[in-house]
Amino acid sequence: MLNYALMSERSFISKRVSNFGETVFAKYTRLSQQHQAINLGQGFPDFPPPDFVLQALRNATETYQQYAPLAGMPPLTETLAQLYSKRLGKTLEPIPNIQISVGATEALFATMQALLDPGDEVILFEPFYDAYPADITMAGGIPKYVPLMPVNGTWQLDIDTLRKACSSKTKIILLNTPSNPCGKVFSEPELDAIIKIAEDYNAVIVSDEVYEHIAFLPHISVASRPGGFERTLTISSVGKTFSVTGWKIGWLVGPEHLIHAVRMAHQWIPFAVATPLQLATAECLKVAEHNNYYAELQRMYFNKLSILLTGLQETPFRAMTPEGSYFVIADTSSLGYADDTALCDDLPKRIGVGAIPPSAFYSPEHKHLAKHLVRFTFCKTDEALQEASRRLKTL
Ligand code: PMP
Ligand code: GLN
Repeated sequence: MLNYALMSERSFISKRVSNFGETVFAKYTRLSQQHQAINLGQGFPDFPPPDFVLQALRNATETYQQYAPLAGMPPLTETLAQLYSKRLGKTLEPIPNIQISVGATEALFATMQALLDPGDEVILFEPFYDAYPADITMAGGIPKYVPLMPVNGTWQLDIDTLRKACSSKTKIILLNTPSNPCGKVFSEPELDAIIKIAEDYNAVIVSDEVYEHIAFLPHISVASRPGGFERTLTISSVGKTFSVTGWKIGWLVGPEHLIHAVRMAHQWIPFAVATPLQLATAECLKVAEHNNYYAELQRMYFNKLSILLTGLQETPFRAMTPEGSYFVIADTSSLGYADDTALCDDLPKRIGVGAIPPSAFYSPEHKHLAKHLVRFTFCKTDEALQEASRRLKTL
């Protein structure tokens, strides 16, 4: 019998996780559900994936049901090696250059476990995707924040600020392009400047490109730029591109020594990744190459973005136009809420619309930069976006 009285005298939660709260996505999706609100908070499509994607899943269920090899299922690693060879202008091979992961989420976690020693520093651009600081601190690393500043409707990176944030302790510069939540697509000169700084400090670049196919400006992989590939781990996944966020198949692409390091961590995290879903992903990637799918996806999201931006024009929200991703950041100053959390706590019950407070994507010292902001997603049906716009107008 366990002695519960004795157990209650001791806290079993590790210092590593004791400061973590529930993620904003869990909290605000629950709030949306409670109030039956239109959830423009958490980014997941409320519409089905294309037929060819569902067909790929059906085909894959009939194949092989046992553990996949450590690097990933050959049809997927081979397909990715071919695709990225073209995109990055390098000859890549499945085993040395590709690792399959449980979504981009595990790719990021395994990367930090694989590369960081306690005290190593990681540069994060703010606003950042909320998993990054947790991944870094769980590996004993220290995040160093470089705020992107909104200037004339676009998010600017100040290269001098980036350089000043780097030191001999900098091990990784973590990039997200197109970025969540601000929708920035990093330009060629910005990527080249980041590579130069990474070279100067002998740091690795980790580039999270999960929104690579939802970009309204040309998306450029940092690994495709001169000097980029040798020091970059490129991460992406199937969720956003094929509207299947629940599949959780991701991948890393990079030079052999970095992929090997990640693989050594990955083998002790999931060991192997869901076999049929890897095969379904391989088929989706192959079909998409030939059926004009990516252009169609861009067109669909550009249309959804237009519906949301047009709707927001007649509301108190002043929206910024994203360059990529499926998120819009808007200024809420005229609504008079104490801060972004107060606004997002109130919107679902007041008008039946869910949203995310962007302060979740800022460090404690910079949270004030998000006080007057809100994040809406437009990966929802056109009808949901129209109805949400109508409700937002009533504010
Ligand atoms: N990075 C970013 C920037 C994201 O928005 C997401 C989506 N949640 C992820 C990583 C995680 O992707 P996945 O669902 O493939 O784990
Ligand atoms: N990437 C999605 C978003 O930012 C969902 C993330 C999640 O649920 N963990 O909304």
